[in-house]
Amino acid sequence: MDGGTVTAAANEGGTALADPRRECVASAGPPYALPATLTPSKMSRFMSCPLAFRLSYLDRLPEPPTVDQVRGTIVHRALQLLFSSGAADARNSERALDALEVAWTEPAMREEVGALALDERAERRLRRETGTLVERYFALEDPTAVHPIGLELDVRVRVGDVELRGIIDRLDRLEDGSVVVVDYKTGRAPRPEQSRSRLGGVHFYAFVCEQLLGHRPREVRLMYLKDQVVVVESPTDQSMRGLRQRAMAIWAAIGRACESGDFRPNPSPLCRFCAFQAHCPAAPAA
Ligand code: SF4
Repeated sequence: MDGGTVTAAANEGGTALADPRRECVASAGPPYALPATLTPSKMSRFMSCPLAFRLSYLDRLPEPPTVDQVRGTIVHRALQLLFSSGAADARNSERALDALEVAWTEPAMREEVGALALDERAERRLRRETGTLVERYFALEDPTAVHPIGLELDVRVRVGDVELRGIIDRLDRLEDGSVVVVDYKTGRAPRPEQSRSRLGGVHFYAFVCEQLLGHRPREVRLMYLKDQVVVVESPTDQSMRGLRQRAMAIWAAIGRACESGDFRPNPSPLCRFCAFQAHCPAAPAA
């Protein structure tokens, strides 16, 4: 990114461009190079707001981490450490809290926490929250009975002209040889009516695993630590076909947008969490 600016002409979405203080960030302009991979985050970002997608993944504007993201990263790391060290029968809450302490001291985590610029009190609260989430995990399953065959797996598979990529929190093997994809969630569990729409990422991981391993995971388990809820989804022919079609359709739409430069802002309630408001002509007024 060169940091220069262009103004409202970049908005082709028909959205009001009233505030001249808002500036779209200049970029290489069309045609943009396609991203190297397609991930669940890129899919959902493009679908919720093409302009935010462009600013994040093509212009690569920095996005400061949020407390929610950092909390999730630390808890994921603690659970990774719990499963990667020691015997299975030593996976208890005491060990998990030890792992959490280690996670907090790691340079990468200190850097992430530092970027939040929390005062002492807020950091203490964040520590407590990570501890609570780690302890709540133990109400969801018995970790001594788990046989993980992969932790924080970076999985990639080429389908047509796109490389699908995802990070799988944990891949388990069951006694009958089948595998289960486990995804830890540190936010709120979806309400029943929201569950369907939140399962796109689940099918993505199941699809990538199937392509890589040659057989379909028996289940994908979403573990909502905060609410102590487990959502289990069994991939089917239909869901795998649907995922493939959806990924191909989104990739094609990204390709068209890269070619034309038409990344329209899509104002929604999500705008209030968007790090790019200062660069968006359609952002809600402050
Ligand atoms: S403020 Fe809203 S419309 Fe603008 S880029 Fe962010 S999400 Fe998109």
